[in-house]
Amino acid sequence: MIDASHVYCANCRAIQPVEFERFVASEPSMGTAARCSRCGFLAFTMISEARVYCDVCDDVRPALLHEYRPAGLLSGGLVRCAVCYASRARLYGTKVSAK
Ligand SMILES: [Zn+2]
Ligand SMILES: [Zn+2]
Repeated sequence: MIDASHVYCANCRAIQPVEFERFVASEPSMGTAARCSRCGFLAFTMISEARVYCDVCDDVRPALLHEYRPAGLLSGGLVRCAVCYASRARLYGTKVSAK
């Protein structure tokens, strides 16, 4: 699900290229931040491929990925918390596949 190239940025209110940044470069289990590459807005925090930080639950939760309506040529994926179903982020990419 990391094949996303773009993310919906709530700060820019637009779909922007996404940047993934590990909090600890050598330790992927510490989490990866998905940021807007234009303004640096933190779209969401991914702990591993299947877990995200949910700020509604205030905890690390399993992630669900739903197909979302495409934007132009990019297919869309909605990342949700599997516990409270709050949507965490909208990802766009050429190959967003649900796992
Ligand atoms: Zn932005
Ligand atoms: Zn939640």
